Amino acid sequence: MSSVALDLERLVPGGVETDVSLQRISRWRIGGSADVVVRPRNVDELAAVRCWLHENGQRSVVIAGTSNLLFSDSGIRAPVIQLGSSFSSVRVDETSIDAEAGAWVPGVARLSMAHGLSGLEHTCGIPGTIGGLVCMNGGSMRRGIGEVITRVQAVAPDGSIVSMTKDECHFAYRRSAFQTNGLIVSNVKLQLDATLDRATIRREMLRILRDRRRKFPQNLPNCGSVFVSDPSMYEQYGPPGKVIERAGFKGTSVGGAYVSPDHANFIINRGDATSEDVLSLIRMIKSAVASETGYSMAVEARYVTNDGLIQEI
Ligand SMILES: Cc1cc2nc3c(=O)[nH]c(=O)nc-3n(C[C@H](O)[C@H](O)[C@H](O)COP(=O)(O)OP(=O)(O)OC[C@H]3O[C@@H](n4cnc5c(N)ncnc54)[C@H](O)[C@@H]3O)c2cc1C
Repeated sequence: MSSVALDLERLVPGGVETDVSLQRISRWRIGGSADVVVRPRNVDELAAVRCWLHENGQRSVVIAGTSNLLFSDSGIRAPVIQLGSSFSSVRVDETSIDAEAGAWVPGVARLSMAHGLSGLEHTCGIPGTIGGLVCMNGGSMRRGIGEVITRVQAVAPDGSIVSMTKDECHFAYRRSAFQTNGLIVSNVKLQLDATLDRATIRREMLRILRDRRRKFPQNLPNCGSVFVSDPSMYEQYGPPGKVIERAGFKGTSVGGAYVSPDHANFIINRGDATSEDVLSLIRMIKSAVASETGYSMAVEARYVTNDGLIQEI
């Protein structure tokens, strides 16, 4: 183990892995290897890790379910902090839910339904963690998780713990302050609505899941919708999937990556795709759509560089 890995292992005993294949752990099944991945199990371990990295001048990167990330083919040299199932306790208190960052979104949505609480129906098919969802202000049907958030607890780069109101999180469509402020979400408080009965909430979730199963490619490595839907482009030309389809990209491939023949806003890894293949396909689509419509589509997925920077594509 490197000396960084040994020091992190001291702070998170049994929670450090070295030379981790990102191809193995990522949703897109793409990426080189990460030198060190540390998986804190509670806010104190997370704070201790951040404090140590800060004091030792080490840049790090936070990842979670990896369902919105494209990793560099040359891997990541900076230490990776991954929040997942070992940091995922969830507590329901009357009409509110307190969830740790690593809690699995569909699980939290199901739990809310079991308690007759609505507001999370649109998230029930999103394969990520609460922390990732808050950072991306993810959701479906043009909604975002930010709508039901009352408070977010986060850990600053120096290891201090901060508590933020919803306003301080600056939620906007697929945007939040956590994309730029360097804070790592550790815990989220959601305020839900108790006016609908359990059966109605369940029916709505099943309808959403059926709809997603019908529209989206299943069981193939992908990162969900690649491009963000722009309301004015939507009004003039339709959603990104339709626009990309009209531009003739359904089924188009570069290396091992191809545009899904089912839904053109999905890029699939055939098995041997590299991040360069995906980036080339994205650039080709973006430029063709811009010259046909005048709209420069924003990319929802993020690229993780070799030195641990998370970049817009
Ligand atoms: C099949 C499929 C369907 C999808 N459908 C949808 C959908 O309907 N709607 C939607 O919005 N998204 C969708 N996505 C994208 C993705 O699931 C969401 O963006 C999700 O919220 C990302 O969560 P994650 O845990 O996987 O985060 P990751 O992909 O690991 O990380 C995403 C970003 O969040 C940051 N991050 C992660 N955890 C934290 C934390 N604790 N604190 C601060 N920052 C953090 C990371 O640094 C990164 O910038 C889909 C993806 C797939 C594969």
